[in-house]
This record gives sequence, C-alpha cells and structure tokens, in this order.
Amino acid sequence: MRPSLLDPLFAPAETLSGVGPRVAALLKRIIGENGAEPLVRDLLFHLPSSVTDRRNRPPLWQLPPSGAVTVEGVVERHDPPPPGSRAPWRVVISDGGAAVQVVYFHARADWMLKLYPVGERRVVSGPVEWFDLRPQIVHPDYVLPPEKAGDLPEIEPVYGTTAGLSPKVLRKAVAAALGKIPRLPEWISPEHAAREAWPSFAEALRQVHDPRKPEDADPIGPASRRLAFDELLASQLALALVRGNARRARGEAWRFEGAVAERIRAALPFGLTASQEQAIAEIAADLRSETRMVRLLQGDVGSGKTLVALIAMAHVAEAGAQAALMAPTELLARQHFATIAPLADAAGLEVRLLTGKDRPAERRESLARIADGRTSLVVGTHALFQGEVAFRRLGLAVVDEQHRFGVHQRMALSSKGSTPDMLVMTATPIPRTLVLSWFGDMEVSRLTEKPAGRQPIDTRLVSLDRIGELTDRIGAALDAGEKVYWVCPLVSESEQSDLAAAEERFAALRRLFGDRVVLVHGRMSAAKKDEAMGRFRAGSGMVLVATTVIEVGVDVPDATIMVVEHAERFGLAQLHQLRGRIGRGTARSTCVLLYRSPLGEVARARLTVMRETEDGFRIAEEDLRLRGEGDLLGTRQSGVPGFRIARPDVHADLLPLARDEARLALARDAGMAGERAAALRLLLYLFGRDDAVRLMRAG
Ligand code: ADP
Ligand code: MG
Repeated sequence: MRPSLLDPLFAPAETLSGVGPRVAALLKRIIGENGAEPLVRDLLFHLPSSVTDRRNRPPLWQLPPSGAVTVEGVVERHDPPPPGSRAPWRVVISDGGAAVQVVYFHARADWMLKLYPVGERRVVSGPVEWFDLRPQIVHPDYVLPPEKAGDLPEIEPVYGTTAGLSPKVLRKAVAAALGKIPRLPEWISPEHAAREAWPSFAEALRQVHDPRKPEDADPIGPASRRLAFDELLASQLALALVRGNARRARGEAWRFEGAVAERIRAALPFGLTASQEQAIAEIAADLRSETRMVRLLQGDVGSGKTLVALIAMAHVAEAGAQAALMAPTELLARQHFATIAPLADAAGLEVRLLTGKDRPAERRESLARIADGRTSLVVGTHALFQGEVAFRRLGLAVVDEQHRFGVHQRMALSSKGSTPDMLVMTATPIPRTLVLSWFGDMEVSRLTEKPAGRQPIDTRLVSLDRIGELTDRIGAALDAGEKVYWVCPLVSESEQSDLAAAEERFAALRRLFGDRVVLVHGRMSAAKKDEAMGRFRAGSGMVLVATTVIEVGVDVPDATIMVVEHAERFGLAQLHQLRGRIGRGTARSTCVLLYRSPLGEVARARLTVMRETEDGFRIAEEDLRLRGEGDLLGTRQSGVPGFRIARPDVHADLLPLARDEARLALARDAGMAGERAAALRLLLYLFGRDDAVRLMRAG
C-alpha cells in the first residue's frame, strides 16, 4: 500500500483551494491520465513550458521590438472606438519622453476608466509589439498603481493550458499544490547527489514552479534535470525489477499451425505488405518461444498495425488461449472492434467488445463468456484490465498505445494474474535506440511501408491571408464529393479561447457550405461527438471541424483533404498523426498547413519538413534536431509516451546515470530493505510505478 506520507500528493486536485469542480474538469483535460481525476501530484508534474521575464523595465523611448516589458507612466487619454465600430479601445500612457498605447478589444467603458484613471500613474506589464511604427501592449497581463508594483511577479512560469482555463487560475492551483509537498527523504545515493549538486525533489519542484531566475524553470537547469532524473530513475528501477521478475516467470510457448490466421487472410480483400509479413513472422517466433514476448510494433497511422495484431491474436486463440486488445479511447475500441469482428467471424472466433458503457445484461453475458473461455478475443478500453473482468486464460495482451499509455499501465496489465505475452502498438516514431534505452528490453517490429494502392499526400503551406482562395477550392472539392477535415488547435497559452476560435471557424464554414459542415470538440458529450462523427462517416457531413480530438485514430477512408489551422502551433509528430487521417483510400489527398504570417525561421523549417516527407521516422529526427532551437510548445506531444518530465532531446544524457543508479540500488539493497529502500519505494509511487513496488517486496 502507498505510504500515507504521500497522501497529500495523491489527493484530488479539486481539494486544493481555488480549484472547484469547473477548474478540476478543465485540469483533467490537460493533466488527467487516461481520464483519471487529476491529482495534486499531476499538477506538480505539469512543468512550465517557458517563463515570462518581467524584469525588463525600459523607459518608453527605448521599448524593444517585442517581448515582455514592464513600463510606468501617466495615463494621458483614452481613445474609445467610435460607436458601432469593432476597433479596439486605446489608452495612451506617457512618461514625458515617449508614449505607449495599451490596446483592448471588446472593452467596457466603465471598467476601462476605472482601471486607467486619466492623470494617474500606472505600471503596466505585458508583451510589447509595434503597429504602424508605434509601440503598443495588447491586453496587458498586469495593470497596477505604482504603490502596488511590488505585487508584480518578476519571473512568471508559463504553462500549456486549455480553453477556458486562464493562466492565472492555473498558476494559483500550482502554487497551492506546492504547499502540499511533504518532507521526503532523499532517494538519490549520496555519491550521486554530491556529484550533481542538485536541489532536493521538493526544492526542485519549488524552483521550477516558482522561479526566481529564468534558469530555474529551464529544462536544462539543475531543478528540471533533478526531476527528470527522478523520473528516469523510477522507470529504470521499475524496469530492472520487472526484468528480474520476468526471467523467473517464463512465458508460455504457444503451439499453433497458423490455420486460424489463414482463414483471416483468406477473408481479406488485399494482400499484406512485406513489412506486415515480417512483423507477423517476428511475433509468431516470439509466441512460440518460451520467453515472454514484450514487443513494440511501430508503424505510422494507417500502416496496418491492427491486422498484424489480429493475426497474432488468432495464433494465440488457435493455441487455446485468449487475446485482448486494449485501446486508449472508447471510440477507438469501437473502431477496432468494427475492423476485427467480420474477420474474426470468418475465422470462427468469438469476439466481444467491453467498454465502460455496455448495457448491464450484455456486459454480464460478456463477462461470463470471457470467464469460461467461449470468447477468445476481447476488444476494449483500459477498463478491460480492471476489476471484475476475469479471463479463463489470457495469453496475449495487445495495447494500442497511440501516445496515451505509459509503461506503468502496461505493467499493471501484466500483473493481472498470469503474465501474458505483450504487444504494444504505437504510431509514435521513436528511434530504435531510444526505445531500447527508455523502455528497456523491448523488441521492436516496424511497419515501414504503406499498404499498396495508397497515394502520396500533397502537402502545402498556406498563409492564413489566403484563406479565401482555400475555401474556394474546398467548395469545388465538396461539389466533387470529397470530404474535408478542418482542425483547429486546442492548447493555448493565451486567455483567448481556442474553443471560441473553433466555433467561429465552424460558423464561418457553415455560412459558406451550409449544414454539410459538422463540429466535434472535446467538451461535447460523447453522444454528440458520436453523432457528428457518424454524419461525417456516412456522408451527410462533409466538412468536419474539429479540435485535435480526431488525432486519436479516427478512420474515414474517403476523407481526402486535411486543413490544419495554426499549423505552426502543433508539434511535428502531432501534425504527422493528423495528416495520417487522410490518404487512406485510393483517391489523391491534400494536406493544407495553414499558418499565421510572419512565420519564424525555425517554424518555417519545421513545416517544410512536413512538406518534404511522409516518413514518420525522418520527421521525428528532424523535429528533435530543430527543437533544440527553441519552440518549447509542441515538445510535450512528441515526447516519449509514459514520461511527463524527462525529454529525449534534452535529458537523454541522464539515462545511463539513472540506469547505473538503479543497478547500484538493487545490488546494494538486494532485499530492498532499510531506509534508502523505503525512500526509493516513495519514488516509485510518485511516478506511478506501483507494480514494481510489489515486485520489490516479493524480491
Ligand atoms: P494502423 O492501426 O496502423 O493505423 P490500420 O490497421 O487501422 O492501421 O489499417 C488502416 C487501414 O488500412 C484499414 O482500413 C485496413 O483494413 C487497411 N489495411 C491494412 N493493411 C492493408 C494492406 N496490406 N493492404 C491494404 N489495406 C490495408
Ligand atoms: Mg490503428
């Protein structure tokens, strides 16, 4: 059981002051794992993506071209917009030498006049920009009378947030979470701690979230490195423990001829690609061997992983055991089920779908048939491996990862009674060397080809200024019967609501194309989402405006156009995933990356990579290379799944250290008793490696 010392960190975030049900629901979208309630710990592990440095206090005649500034001056006058106009409200502030304009859109007069009394001094902090050769600050972050200027934070963390959750509210929640950190023993060995001169775990969290200098929150600074090291140490320790355990618990050597799989092949209207065949052969060899299979199946979206998995499942079924496929969302589980059901049927295998939403009678029936073995294949969400689901004999667990599952969830799965063979499917193009070092002894199979008949995708970069031309062309495509995805981003650092932007785009496209346009976003009810998706699939909807929720594996093969708005705000891995939604049928497809000009040099280089290649592995490598030059936003999405803090681009050098440290710990405290072992146990819990703790006790 988890030591009670950690209880404050494992309390729901909602128990923090300033976090009510509404904020908790928003937090769940950015930090909740697999839809779980966000905890205080999750909030603490949501590190800032950058900082705002407000220490730059130039006189008004010396304002920089851009960046955050804090300025002081007298409110000279207000320039309200003429009635009925959509122009912003301007306030002129001067310091005798020069002036700056403070600009507000949709401002209310009474509020503005109270905030900026004419003739009084005000301290204003926010991002400066130049418009018509004049400096201005649009919607400043802080406006204070000089006597309150001390309240202004000098260095302020900037977090990735979500529509409706303001940075202020998020920062307050994190500050409250910092107050909950208990006094914890050190788990890093004294030798190591001395060598690195890192702050303690608690101190590191404080530095990162409440920075006194910009370096405090820097991913390469000591505080972030300490936290990344802790995370890596927890994973390496868990891997070492699991590995030690796995050697004892040998796998089953399944015996099968391949007859069932043959019936599936016969039912397919196409032949398998060479890389599918190779992956199938590698998996079959694993299944037949006595060592337990833990294999990663990597392949781009649409490369045909599901079929490879199904063949493996058929082998295990032929050998007399059961196989389960776990998907990260209900929608995906249903989609997998729809693919698998007719093929399983053709092969004479019973397959059942288990989600959180089954009707009770149906569910009872399923559970009974899974328990007595009449059902050989089960498809479901992660609920599959929790609670009441009992398999007669689970031989193979397939996890469709799609970014969402961490290593520890996989371990939870394998600890369910027996140790089934494991196949993890991922579309994340992690380079092979990284797979080995981050996940340990996982074998890797790769699908490197696209199924035959697929057309290359024509990718274009288009400036938002030319949206009129774009919609003209889309109109023509719709008349020709083509279907369009239109993606709007949903992670914003500003208070402007991205959701509002998606809704606005939806309204604008509706005006052009009528009710052929449908909308899906994360805050819709599941029923509404399903309805919109259903219309899009069936064809009464032809333009699907969506926030990035469609990223997760939606399959509509006749969609041929993908528009990504604000493409510069997406990680490359994410763009690659999105683009994989099209080009699935035989028709020629186009991906339009809409960006807002001007595009910075790095941003342009990144988008150009997308235009030049469809090779996910190359995109991942280029992304890694280019990301060194800034642009922190978007890195999270392309990090290594299962890790929240450690990043392959900046923390890879810590891996060998963590591995040594883990080895040392296990060698020294073979029984894992004593004080240090107790501290390491806390570490494992903190990073969600609960299952490894169990192995520790056993060992
Ligand atoms: P992934 O899971 O890798 O994203 P899927 O397994 O869902 O890809 O396959 C995407 C689509 O391609 C499915 O409609 C599937 O039936 C089809 N498909 C899979 N393999 C082949 C193949 N060898 N030839 C033609 N189509 C294929
Ligand atoms: Mg798939």
